[in-house]
Amino acid sequence: MSQLNPRQSEAVHYIDGPLLVLAGAGSGKTSVITRKIAHLIQKCEIPAHRIVAVTFTNKAAREMKERVGQLVKGKQARGLTVSTFHNLGLNIIRKEHQRLGLKNGFSIFDDQDSRTLLTELLHRESDVGADEVDIIRHSISNWKNDLISPSQAISRANDEDEVRAAQTYAQYDRMLRAYNAVDFDDLILLPTVLLRDNEDVLEKWRNRIYYMLVDEYQDTNISQYLLVRLLVGNRARFTVVGDDDQSIYAWRGARPENLAQLAEDYPALKVIKLEQNYRSSGRILKCANKVIANNPHVFEKQLWSEHGYGDPIRIIRCRSEDHEAEKIASEILNQHLQKKRPFKDFAVLYRGNHQSRIIELKLQQFQVPYKVSGGSSFFSKAEIKDVMAYLRLIMNSDDDNAFLRIVNTPRRELGPTTLEKLGQYAQNRERSLFSVCCEMGLAETLKAKQYSMLKRFHDWIEETRENIQRGHAVGAIKQMIRDIDYENWLVEQSSSPKMAEKRMENVWQLIASIERMLEKADDENDVESVIGKLILLDILEQQKEEDDSDRVQLMTLHASKGLEFPYVFLMGMEEELLPHRTSIEEDNIEEERRLMYVGITRAKRELTMTYTAKRKQYGEEFEPTPSRFLDEMPQDDLAWEGRGFQKSKEEKQEIGNAHLANLKNLFD
Ligand code: ATP
Ligand code: MG
Repeated sequence: MSQLNPRQSEAVHYIDGPLLVLAGAGSGKTSVITRKIAHLIQKCEIPAHRIVAVTFTNKAAREMKERVGQLVKGKQARGLTVSTFHNLGLNIIRKEHQRLGLKNGFSIFDDQDSRTLLTELLHRESDVGADEVDIIRHSISNWKNDLISPSQAISRANDEDEVRAAQTYAQYDRMLRAYNAVDFDDLILLPTVLLRDNEDVLEKWRNRIYYMLVDEYQDTNISQYLLVRLLVGNRARFTVVGDDDQSIYAWRGARPENLAQLAEDYPALKVIKLEQNYRSSGRILKCANKVIANNPHVFEKQLWSEHGYGDPIRIIRCRSEDHEAEKIASEILNQHLQKKRPFKDFAVLYRGNHQSRIIELKLQQFQVPYKVSGGSSFFSKAEIKDVMAYLRLIMNSDDDNAFLRIVNTPRRELGPTTLEKLGQYAQNRERSLFSVCCEMGLAETLKAKQYSMLKRFHDWIEETRENIQRGHAVGAIKQMIRDIDYENWLVEQSSSPKMAEKRMENVWQLIASIERMLEKADDENDVESVIGKLILLDILEQQKEEDDSDRVQLMTLHASKGLEFPYVFLMGMEEELLPHRTSIEEDNIEEERRLMYVGITRAKRELTMTYTAKRKQYGEEFEPTPSRFLDEMPQDDLAWEGRGFQKSKEEKQEIGNAHLANLKNLFD
């Protein structure tokens, strides 16, 4: 176990009041949190179940749990909460669901579910484009993050568009409640509002939590900030750690100002700065410092490293995006074979999810194992979720979530109003949505046409269930797909016939795996247990990131926050990719620069960046400009490759001048 430096040690031992650790990348902030948890349990004898540590991604939470697990063994750690903000919120909602008017077993709508619901709501009035749905969804999300209720949003709306968005927000929330469901933003919003407005609940939770620790504090939004403030109260027993230079979630409402706000809210706040970086070579660190120095700074930070200076940062110019992917894949394979570097020591980082496809293909070609974190896996594909939802509802008629996903997929003219009434009726009857579909009472509340539609759906599901259980299961499932004319629905929903074909192929793949599982001569393999296993696989797939086998790691820059890898490739170092086009248009280069800073500082030993001379976009080829961030790096520390030309004297002069200007800025 590494020795803490004096400042880290001070941060671990300081428990008399609120504490903020403000420090740059790789300086041991997360380490302070894990060591402090161990200290609280072992030295201060605070029961583990009264300690709550919060971080941003599931991956980060898992890593933190692992690190704590190495320090605190077995029973002592029982009941400790190390989770994401969303999971913490979910826990509170689970325990307080009655106060929130939710029934037990409420559903959680993921982004895709919310989108479907919104599309249906908006379709009710007119045809809307996917863009408009996204814009409204984004507004609703922002309102929720800012704790603005539908009625407040309506009263604050300034123009027609805002009124429409706010009214949709109101309907959307009503529908969610009628469905006994919450969305992702609700996971923070609902507990925050509940605690804010109910003294007794607040008191209960405050008494339960003795000490709170928050990692990546710079990325909290208003509702998360308030949730923490409510939970810690005036006793203010907390440690938060963060780095304003790594704030990369402004688009999701994150407010790095929360760091400064903290000092105002807690005048007794102690601030500790850490300056030694334990992660990267001197050269990598110098590049990171140099790039981020171009952003204005409220808190000045210095970072230094005792590791050697290290190799130059390689910048590789590639002919095309195909060449870029090939270059990275072959480099990784070569280094694996020649230098015996494990695959898992490599990470390939990129700005947008769409960039992963081509590198995935190349890695597959070279038979290099890899995993994509946070990307879309087989089970998160819409068509697979649809078919799985059919199977889930067939196996469990109380699965409201599955019911809602498919009742109108493909469209059955069951609009939101009908479903809202159905939801209310089922809630009054305290039964599941599917189970009340053929009740006479429901016939009285719905129009005849809608009722008969629901009843037909109900009877057809029952019939399919019988067919699956009685006869040839796979044949019955295929018949089900034909009955709903799913293939045509995919054609309607997809951007091209080819896309539709690919998606249908995925469906056949799923059915083929069911067939294979059923064929295995095993007593347990009746159709119910096979589908049960698939449902579990679905859940496992979502947790696959836990898998620590030897694979190259692919992820977006956003997903890489807080992680570290010996060898890092940063691809697509081009204007419009990094910095991203929308950020250039919105003149928001600073956030992109922070992303760049996050990317550079993930690397421990070697950092390689690539860009291309030609790239295709929407079927057209163009010549991208290398990212401006490449120019911001200390040129003496870079080793350029594949650049068939040297920069002209004037260009160099220009860059030199820009650097002088930057330096001057720094000292002014
Ligand atoms: P980020 O800003 O990227 O989240 P961080 O500040 O949270 O980084 P950590 O991940 O905690 O930094 O630490 C970075 C690396 O330095 C880790 O590998 C950690 O084990 C190591 N480290 C931290 N403190 C020390 C120390 N005192 N001695 C040796 N190694 C350390
Ligand atoms: Mg960290």
